[in-house]
Amino acid sequence: MKIRIGNISIGDGEPIAIQSMTNTPTFDVEKTVSQINDLERSGVDIVRVSVPDEKSARALKMIKGRISVPIVADIHFDYKLAILSIKMGADKIRINPGNIGADWKVRELAKAAKERNIPIRVGANSGSLPKDLEGYEKRYVAIAEAALREVRILENVGFEDIVVSVKSSDPLETIKSNEYIRKRVEYPIHIGVTEAGVYESAVISSSFALGYLLYEGIGDTIRVSIAGNPIREVIVARKLLSFLRLRKEPRVIACPSCARAVFDVEKIAHDVEDKLFELGKPVTFSVLGCYVNGIGEGKSADAGIAGIDGDRFVAFKNGKILGTYSMDDLYYIVEDLIKEV
Ligand code: SF4
Repeated sequence: MKIRIGNISIGDGEPIAIQSMTNTPTFDVEKTVSQINDLERSGVDIVRVSVPDEKSARALKMIKGRISVPIVADIHFDYKLAILSIKMGADKIRINPGNIGADWKVRELAKAAKERNIPIRVGANSGSLPKDLEGYEKRYVAIAEAALREVRILENVGFEDIVVSVKSSDPLETIKSNEYIRKRVEYPIHIGVTEAGVYESAVISSSFALGYLLYEGIGDTIRVSIAGNPIREVIVARKLLSFLRLRKEPRVIACPSCARAVFDVEKIAHDVEDKLFELGKPVTFSVLGCYVNGIGEGKSADAGIAGIDGDRFVAFKNGKILGTYSMDDLYYIVEDLIKEV
């Protein structure tokens, strides 16, 4: 099933969309717009913002006027805030109707969303299961069943513009829960590992769970949840999609380096990668610390360099050596190579 979120579509074979979330106070328009612009430059497709109060909901109108990616308003419990966010221009609402209360409130929210073609994301997290589902032996089933409950509430009021998400801080549980959901609903699924932790743990657990699910064909939008600067979430998500061949993105193949390396492989690989992402070029570039194996692993790259000695390196393009150059010119040559390919 295809769903429209602002100017993008998800589901039914559409490209997987990358989502991230701001960590600025939403009512602080300047800070929030600045962070969303940074996220846009990093390649985000959809941005979620918390809407804990009325001033945050009202800020959405000013924020919307200064960004071009779709914005999702994340709301807990308060259906009035959800309706206000829709009026202020939110492109999608994240709220669980099971927390809203009376049926008529759910109906009012569904009506407001329907009038403006705004989808609603519902779901469940391992950390906030309803009491009666907490005792389930298989927690992944409990998480999925909690999300299905939310889906049914919206369906019962005739609303089907739905995105579902089931998340756990345990990557295996996240996988199983999503597989369970996929067998039961056709709505697009947003996937992510919740509370994934600081950088290394977050990258490993998200790569495992999201990579596995996407490889199985499950997931229409993704978030790599990492504590701290959200820009890193987008970069990791782009790389993950690239490794899964779901996107063509910049890629640097770098040797691990050893005693034969004649330059700082890690630094140069980082610099090249930054440059490729800055230029937005889906180029594969190889950085090899020495020439002992010729251009070896670099043959499959679009271009690359390999050290000869402390003073010289070779540059190659499409598997062919272009020449030997002085280390003093390394960055000029790298930039030229990137531009050429
Ligand atoms: S390419 Fe050279 S420097 Fe890099 S790991 Fe291999 S032998 Fe070592």
